[in-house]
Amino acid sequence: MAEPTKPSLDAVTTIRDDGSRRFIHPASVSGRFTRARTLVGALLMLVYIALPWIPINGHPAVFLDVINRQFHILGLTFVTQDLWLGFFVITGVGFSLFYITALLGRIWCGWACPQTVFLDIVRRIERWIEGDATARRKLDDSPWTGNKTLRRGGSRLALGLFAFVVAHVFLSYFVSIPHLYKMMTNNPGENWGAFVFVFAMTFALWFDFAWFREQFCIILCPYGRIQSALTDDNTLNIGYDELRGEPRGKKGATTGDCIDCRKCVQVCPTGIDIRHGLQLECIGCAACVDACDSVMEKLERAPGLIRYDSFNGLKRKPRKIIRPRIIFYTVLLAIGVVALSLALSRLQSLTVSMNRLSAAAYFLDGPDEMTIRNQFLVRIMNKRNATMDCKIEVLNPPAGLDVAGIEKTYSIPAESAESVALIMRLPRANFKKDVPLKVRISTVDGKSSMERTMTFLGPKI
Ligand code: SF4
Ligand code: SF4
Repeated sequence: MAEPTKPSLDAVTTIRDDGSRRFIHPASVSGRFTRARTLVGALLMLVYIALPWIPINGHPAVFLDVINRQFHILGLTFVTQDLWLGFFVITGVGFSLFYITALLGRIWCGWACPQTVFLDIVRRIERWIEGDATARRKLDDSPWTGNKTLRRGGSRLALGLFAFVVAHVFLSYFVSIPHLYKMMTNNPGENWGAFVFVFAMTFALWFDFAWFREQFCIILCPYGRIQSALTDDNTLNIGYDELRGEPRGKKGATTGDCIDCRKCVQVCPTGIDIRHGLQLECIGCAACVDACDSVMEKLERAPGLIRYDSFNGLKRKPRKIIRPRIIFYTVLLAIGVVALSLALSRLQSLTVSMNRLSAAAYFLDGPDEMTIRNQFLVRIMNKRNATMDCKIEVLNPPAGLDVAGIEKTYSIPAESAESVALIMRLPRANFKKDVPLKVRISTVDGKSSMERTMTFLGPKI
């Protein structure tokens, strides 16, 4: 049988001394945190699967239409020109994570990270097909009999199916559900790009579910690396109450509350012993809390030998919630929220680009070349899901400027773009020097407008 894991602070439990991989088979656990995490995980999976199905403003709640360069998120439509908003979103997510980590430690890792949520499901599938942790360890060591092939092969196949479903749901965020169904029922050759993408993603997920697993958290995830810089002695983490638990040993008059049953180690998905103190590998899943609480319950002792607490709390020192780093992160977060709100409030339902038409910068018209002509191309994109009527105005026309087509109303169909040629003519006698012209493109209902400045050029005399 595989050697029992003996976690230490000098080595990673999942790597043997010779560098080979040691598989962790965490034991099953039940308790209030496990139940709550199962519920949160199920809700998150539901949201992940449902978002491409729920229609808002005529589009799925999240539809990243990369092919048409339109991104529909919770009823708002963004185009590539709105990508600058991504800066606020990314920094906002980053600061929120800093803030939450400073207050609540690795709550994200243990409760909401997709890797954790997926691996919880993976372990359920594995437990269901291969048996409990002891049975799985036995299976690891046994030769390839019919039983092992059936069980291990069956569980790997089930993980492959799970990866296949997750990859298809992911693809539906980019192609929408009806299009995904069409792709799945058509010949793969007709959508070979999507087919290769889903195949590669299914394989990558399957590799993660079947082999890589907790290694992702321990050696790959950058957030796990920086957490020690984000937390302090007042941060809420999972911790072992050494003052209460030590000296550990069989229940006796001189021992602490820890009976050294190692239940907390057996359930740990990253294979560590939390009694050594907070470690980089701890993802804050609280499995050890439930395991130890059930032991304490049997011993008729108070729960919470392992619990959510700060380092100061475990040392019986007062815990401060408001501290300089929390104030600093709060200020950063508030600035980010205000900036994003302002940016979203300025979001327009049309986007406009205006460029000089190619060929010459200007033309001289008429028999005596007494009229200067400039030509521009205005491209108006309607981001609404209904036809939009637009008008074009020149806000500061010089005397005698004639703009062909400016009196017209342009109807732009829903979610499409139209190009309008703007031909401007100015009598040469009225042209003294290059004129910066402000052009406003607005919707007839007055709800959206954008301004662009172009220079009317002419001969330098
Ligand atoms: S589960 Fe509790 S009692 Fe058992 S070894 Fe861990 S800390 Fe000690
Ligand atoms: S030490 Fe406890 S909270 Fe941390 S990963 Fe292991 S079981 Fe989860």
